[in-house]
Amino acid sequence: MATTPDTSLAARARYEPVIGLEVHVQLLTASKIFCSCSTRFGDPPNTNVCPVCLGLPGALPVLNRKAVEFAVRAAMALNCRVNETSIFARKNYFYPDLPKGYQISQYDKPLAEFGWIEITTGTGRKKIGITRLHLEEDAGKSLHEGFPDSDQTTAIDLNRSGVPLIEIVSEPDIASPDEAYEYLTRLKEIILYTGVSDCNMEEGSLRCDANVSVRPRGQKEFGTKTEVKNVNSFRFIREALEYEIERHIGVIESGGKITQETRLYNANEGKTYGMRSKEQAHDYRYFPEPDLLPLVVDEKWQAEIRRMLPELPEARRKRMVADYGITEYDVQVLTSTQALADQFEAAAKAAKNPKRVANLVQSELMGRLKARGLEIEQSPISMKGVAMSADLVESGAISGKMLKDLYDLCFERGQDFPAVYEKEKPQQITDTSAIEKIINEVIAANPKQLEQYRGGKKTVIGFFVGQVMKASRGQANPQLVNELLAKKLES
Ligand code: ADP
Ligand code: ZN
Ligand code: MG
Repeated sequence: MATTPDTSLAARARYEPVIGLEVHVQLLTASKIFCSCSTRFGDPPNTNVCPVCLGLPGALPVLNRKAVEFAVRAAMALNCRVNETSIFARKNYFYPDLPKGYQISQYDKPLAEFGWIEITTGTGRKKIGITRLHLEEDAGKSLHEGFPDSDQTTAIDLNRSGVPLIEIVSEPDIASPDEAYEYLTRLKEIILYTGVSDCNMEEGSLRCDANVSVRPRGQKEFGTKTEVKNVNSFRFIREALEYEIERHIGVIESGGKITQETRLYNANEGKTYGMRSKEQAHDYRYFPEPDLLPLVVDEKWQAEIRRMLPELPEARRKRMVADYGITEYDVQVLTSTQALADQFEAAAKAAKNPKRVANLVQSELMGRLKARGLEIEQSPISMKGVAMSADLVESGAISGKMLKDLYDLCFERGQDFPAVYEKEKPQQITDTSAIEKIINEVIAANPKQLEQYRGGKKTVIGFFVGQVMKASRGQANPQLVNELLAKKLES
């Protein structure tokens, strides 16, 4: 009798998912990894090809130095140990988009190993191990669409054949679909910072295969894994993993067995489907590539590449928290893209008081964005605008209250700060006698504070400044107020 699979919360709590990701990243070299053909995306099919990347007999590969440099840079950014000597290997399989019948990859002696990425989980920080990072060539692309009169035709575009890739294989350290999503986000961010890839998923510059299994909590041995291939967004990878985990538990709970296989995710249905049973590694009949020498990246070359490493996201966030005194949360938002972080830092550095720029982002900008459900990229006020407003406050040209009103107007009108300021430039009271009149009124109304001040408590001047600004509805020039007040109180 078949039992109904139990995938209730209670059943799910008895299992622990185990996830490992294999990520392919296309390197931004101008030419391919073993020939001088262009890597440009979107050219007419089969226009960037030559005997080497077409796999014609007798053609010999010549390794692209830039591809090695980029791969090493990525490996270093991912905390890997770079092996001085690595070996290219032939991975043999038959597929129409693979003209040579094998892919040149690396196998038992990869370029780099033993790296890690730190991620943030619900319970804190966690390091996900990177088993290896190796160089390989891409295959061509099968085109199944766009042929009238036939849905049977498949055409092959070999422009992509021989484009340089790195494959980054994680340890099975990832414990949930959310962690997988976070790992991919951090990985992509680091690679973008290194500049070795544009990580454009639509163009296939970043592709992820997700391996997943479940095991009863507390069990040491892994369960049987399945691999979900060719999922084209991080969100879909998370969904596919969620689906697979539930499916695995369902199969096991009803007494069945998971078969090791490759599956495809249908994003419309939110389901995975079996594609083929997974070849074991020996099916590829790996052997060393006889047409290429061992790849040697000696200490000197490694040092050169290390010198070119830019400041990486984690280090940048730590520095920004220290430099600008902003919160962990805000620094996450401000560094959500490299461009935004660059804009912020450029604006802050150009401003009279960098910390005030950071403070304004934190105290005035974030809340307004959040209230309207806007991402920071959609902010009407640019970082330059924030910096300008900070300078105006700094110089006393506008008060904090005016700044708030101007920010509100920017959001109402969808205009940046400089434009709104030009139009609304408050009529500031700079008339000394008018300000003195207000000062006299304020002092007369607060005899107790005056006594305190005269008694030596000089900080009370801040209270008087506030009262005068309030009485002038924020329109008195703060610098003048400060000067005149000090004079008056001392007299
Ligand atoms: P294969 O030879 O099938 O490609 P690998 O050992 O190379 O398998 O691992 C591929 C990926 O699968 C790695 O990211 C690894 O961490 C992950 N992985 C290995 N075993 C499991 C498992 N039982 N469950 C989940 N992921 C796994
Ligand atoms: Zn070529
Ligand atoms: Mg593998």
